[in-house]
Amino acid sequence: MLMATMLARMPDLRLRVQAQHAPDHAGRCRDCRGTTRWPCELYQIAAEAERHSLPSPRSPLPWSAPAPASASFLL
Ligand SMILES: [Zn+2]
Repeated sequence: MLMATMLARMPDLRLRVQAQHAPDHAGRCRDCRGTTRWPCELYQIAAEAERHSLPSPRSPLPWSAPAPASASFLL
């Protein structure tokens, strides 16, 4: 599933989709509105992406790793 693979690489977007496409009190998706039952298609894609991104909650992603102290050459 291409969309889930893409979302798995964008954890911020995935989390936003999962937060926005949450069920309301009647069991419908809040973001899709209308009569869309929850979980909606977008939420299911995000959930699939979450499974793709596991298991790596402990290993830091390359782009989220803290920058090395590279200012030491100035001293
Ligand atoms: Zn939705």
